[in-house]
Amino acid sequence: MKHNFGAGPCILPQPVFEQASKAVLDFNGLSILEVSHRHKDFVAVMDEAIALTKQALGVPEGYSVAFLQGGATLGFTIAALNMMREHKAAGYMNTGTWASGAIKEAKKVGLDVTVFASSEDQNFTYIPKNYSIPSSLDFVHFTSNNTIFGTQFHTFPATDLPLVCDMSSDIFSKVINVSDFDLIYAGAQKNLGPAGATVYIVKDEVLGKSTSPFLPTYLDLKQHVDKESMMNTPPVFAVYVAMLNLKDLISNGGVAAAEQRNIAKAQLLYNEIDRNSQFKGAVSVEDRSNMNVTFLLNDESRAADFDALWKAAGIVGLPGHRSVGGYRASLYNALPLASVQVLVEVMKEFEKTA
Ligand SMILES: *Cc1c(COP(=O)(O)O)cnc(C)c1O
Repeated sequence: MKHNFGAGPCILPQPVFEQASKAVLDFNGLSILEVSHRHKDFVAVMDEAIALTKQALGVPEGYSVAFLQGGATLGFTIAALNMMREHKAAGYMNTGTWASGAIKEAKKVGLDVTVFASSEDQNFTYIPKNYSIPSSLDFVHFTSNNTIFGTQFHTFPATDLPLVCDMSSDIFSKVINVSDFDLIYAGAQKNLGPAGATVYIVKDEVLGKSTSPFLPTYLDLKQHVDKESMMNTPPVFAVYVAMLNLKDLISNGGVAAAEQRNIAKAQLLYNEIDRNSQFKGAVSVEDRSNMNVTFLLNDESRAADFDALWKAAGIVGLPGHRSVGGYRASLYNALPLASVQVLVEVMKEFEKTA
């Protein structure tokens, strides 16, 4: 087996792969790939995926969960359209590539966007602090974990304004207080399931209040919540596997236990990055992500040697994003501690050959 440090689509638990493959061959006498999404057996799967999402994150009364398609990329537009109110103005934090993408789409749908905090000045290597949030905004948007640069909000922005978050790469990785948010969205393929499903957790009060003159049916969250994620054909297989993964997560102690495992994995790797004379971390220490660990070689000319070592150890998915370079080890929920130990051993070996 390979050690998959890929940033997404990413590793899922082995039992989930096994159960998913069985359902491809036999889901109550059909293949999960051919079953009608209106069949009661699949309606039960969708209901369970929604119920398990609520259970895993402790989603309170007054919130709904929906599974859509389009990825977090369509989520940028859906969030902006559904949260637009009388000001037609929003505040965005720019902490990386995905945050920048969200800003671009918010402008496209006609929001007056104020970027009240940004780390672009230092190539997104930190999370901005000590900013002030203007009033007279319809909502505030941020990206909880910056998948490409490897920074993470360890405390969320404090505001009385409706708070919206792209949580694609750290949802289900740690305990959160859903009631802090009006809207959370996340592409499934980083901690929840295969690519193809996108989860939305929305405060019911938000639904049906958009002031946008342009709100296509598919982009209206109220439609999806009212139709229990069955407005059109949902991503049947992606939702099925997400459901299996949520069951697996809950049976292994839920999000709280996953958080402890994720912290242990990240600490093991960051300790080695800091100890090892050959490497350095890529971002400011207090903002380091527990999901996507970015690091660099002190001597770039040794890259081919390091690459040969980790590849020989069965590691895949370690190169940094093409826009950043260096290395990125994604430590999503399903990545075992043993895989991190293999990487740390490789880094130690590499130091010995210096
Ligand atoms: C991967 C990612 C996206 C893009 O997700 P898609 O599902 O590919 O549209 C957006 N935001 C964050 C934080 C991501 O990690």
